[in-house]
Order: sequence, then structure tokens, then C-alpha cells
Amino acid sequence: MNTPTAPITQDVLTIARKDGEQTGKANLVGLTRNEMRDALIAAGTPEKQAKMRVGQVWQWIYQKGVRDFDAMTNLAKDYRAMLGEVFEIRVPEIMTRQISEDGTRKYLVRIAGGHEVEVVYIPEEDRGTLCVSSQVGCTLTCSFCHTGTQKLVRNLTAAEIVGQIMLARDDLGDWVKPGEGMGERPRLVSNIVLMGMGEPLYNFDAVRDAMKIAMDGEGISLSRRRITLSTSGVVPEIARAGEEIGCMLAISFHATTDEVRDTLVPINKKWNIAELLEALRAYPKLSNSERITFEYVMLDGVNDTEDDARRLVKLIDGIPAKINLIPFNEWPGAPYKRSSNNRIHRFADIIYKAGYATPIRTPRGEDIMAACGQLKSATERARKSRREIETEAGIASR
Ligand code: SAH
Ligand code: SF4
Repeated sequence: MNTPTAPITQDVLTIARKDGEQTGKANLVGLTRNEMRDALIAAGTPEKQAKMRVGQVWQWIYQKGVRDFDAMTNLAKDYRAMLGEVFEIRVPEIMTRQISEDGTRKYLVRIAGGHEVEVVYIPEEDRGTLCVSSQVGCTLTCSFCHTGTQKLVRNLTAAEIVGQIMLARDDLGDWVKPGEGMGERPRLVSNIVLMGMGEPLYNFDAVRDAMKIAMDGEGISLSRRRITLSTSGVVPEIARAGEEIGCMLAISFHATTDEVRDTLVPINKKWNIAELLEALRAYPKLSNSERITFEYVMLDGVNDTEDDARRLVKLIDGIPAKINLIPFNEWPGAPYKRSSNNRIHRFADIIYKAGYATPIRTPRGEDIMAACGQLKSATERARKSRREIETEAGIASR
């Protein structure tokens, strides 16, 4: 068996970043309704009007995709001018866009500090899924994941997370058009998966705020059932995800013994399989209609035996679940091979017969390296001092 070892955290710089410190203007994107209210009041909006103004501005930004205060025609001219002086509506910039033979789109997106993340849009017959990143890189070094080999790590802000949805809507022409009602046309971005770069539960607050914004019924308006957060197993944050975000949950399970999971998903050394399952059994609102997705990457000769399948069924007993089998997606230098189709189907069969749905995920956008676990931005750079990185990112302590 191939057993590369991987540490729980690399020697990396994990830096958060406050937004809006570069142009001198505060970004309205990424603020919760309450935060936007406070910001508008601080800029001189009378308190009595603040709630209504938030409602108006919110709709322009998150329903119609407007970026220019001048276009907000239901606001008085001088109020628009004031907003334009104090605030901006900024989303990350698309550097490159690749379109796969199968229609999948991969965006390389630049955020403050010159860092880059990848965002993937996957069109399907009945839906369009946007795979969103939560961090630049990832501090967890799962041995089969390309993102985990990237050294530089920084948390994305809520603006940068919700901004990924907004830039995809820009590119796809997916905003509500003038004269069009909100639910009139199905949205091209109908589902969000937090399955891009990074561990979303290690950037909890920003992910929560961004998803709350995406769920707001007066804006992007995605139901919580259409948002799936995937975690490698940050056990102490799982209950919070249920309580404070309420979205669907996916778990990067990938192994049926602690010994193997320790090498594949090294966070297992901190919270092992038993602790993880305990947290999942308690995940709020568990019911048959809201199953937990167990993601299981199929690695040749590592975790793909019939014994593994039987152990998996035993482990998850009692948890409303579906098991998503992911054929391993290779990346340059990857230490594993994809299991044969035969093995994958035998594995799926055992789980299916035990009563669980076992979709086998079709790799999408492989020709543009957009498939699960292939994302890694080229921003990996020579080590710089913390000070240099902080200055670039606009968070240097003054
Ligand atoms: N960090 C989060 C979410 C991102 S990854 C997490 O780990 O859950 C989304 C899914 O793709 C995870 O289940 C991840 O384990 C899986 N994955 C990572 N690298 C992969 C690869 N090379 N081939 C197939 N799946 C991969
Ligand atoms: Fe990070 Fe998820 Fe990749 Fe693991 S699989 S290194 S947690 S992005």
C-alpha cells in the first residue's frame, strides 16, 4: 500500500485580511444586513431610514448585480453621490476563464494582495453548480489533494466568498434583468458547493456570513438546501455549521480505519473517525430528506476493497446518508492512482445493497484541471516575510 505521510498543518502563513483598506472606500459586498445598516448610518443615513436603504441597496447589489451607485435609480441623486464617495461594490477580478469540452468553466480569480483562487462552474441538465473556494490554499495536507500542496494560505473574506458567486453570475449573465420578476427564470447558478480550495470550517465566520448573504430571499436567494459545505472533519465546528448556517453537509470521509484515514486526511489525527461520527449523529435537523453526504475518493489499492465497503456501511449505521464515490482525479506528481471501474462498481454495489444511494461522481472539466481536488493556484511563491505579505494584503499593523 502506498502510504505517504502528511502533517496536520504545514509551515505556512495563515493570514486573515480586512477588506476595503486599499481604495480607502469600504466595500459593501460581504456585509451582513446589520453591518450594512451600521455602515450606512455611519456615513450619514438617518437611522429611521436605514432599514429601508439597506433593503434598496441590497436588491441592487444582490438581485440585479449593479456595481455603480448611479444606477440605483430609486435613491435620490445626492444620496447616490454620497454612497459613491464612501463605498464601493467590489468583487474579485477574473484573471482567466477556461471552458472545458463538457461546458465546465474554471475561473482563476485575483483577490487583494495579488493572491489567486479558483472557482468552478458545472452546468448540468437540471441545475448549475458553482464550486466556491473558502481559502487560498489549505492548511490541511490531505495527501491526495492538489490544493493541500500549496504553501501560501490565507482566509478569504466574506466579500471574496460571496464575490465568487457574483462574478460567476456576471460571466453567465445570470442576474435578474430589468423588468423581470425574481423567480421568473431559473438561475444558471442554482447550487453552491463549498468544495473549492480550502477548509471552510477553518474560516467559519466569513463562510457563514457569505452563505447568509447568498440565502437572503431579497438577493441571491438560494435555499439552504442548495448549499453544501464540505469539510474534512473539523469536529468542533460541525454543530455550529448546522445551527448558524443550516446548509447541507458533506464529509470528506475517504477511509474506514483510523490508520488509513490518518494518512489520507491528516486532521483525523486530531479528531478520529469515532469522534467525527459522533458529531454527525448529532448534526441538527438530521432527517431522511436531509442526508449527510459522505465523500469517498477511490484510490487504487488504498481504500477500495470490499472489506472497506462493508466497514463503511457499519460505521455510518443510523446516519441518514448518501455516499458519493469520487474516482481519484490525478494531478502532476500525485502519489495515487484511480481505482478501476470494476472496483468502484463493486464498492458501490455493497453500499447500495445496504440501502444507501451511492452516486459515482463523474469527473467534470478534467481537460482544464477543474475536477475535485485538482485546484491549486499558481500564486504559490517564494517564501516572504509575514510583514511583506501583510503589507501586500493591506493588513499591516500600523
Ligand atoms: N476542504 C474541503 C472541501 C474541498 S474538497 C474538504 O476537504 O472537504 C472537495 C472534495 O474533493 C473533498 O471530498 C476532497 O477530499 C475531494 N478531493 C480532493 N482531492 C481530490 C482528488 N485529487 N480526486 C478526487 N477527489 C478529491
Ligand atoms: Fe484541504 Fe480539503 Fe484538500 Fe484536504 S481535501 S487538503 S481539507 S482542500
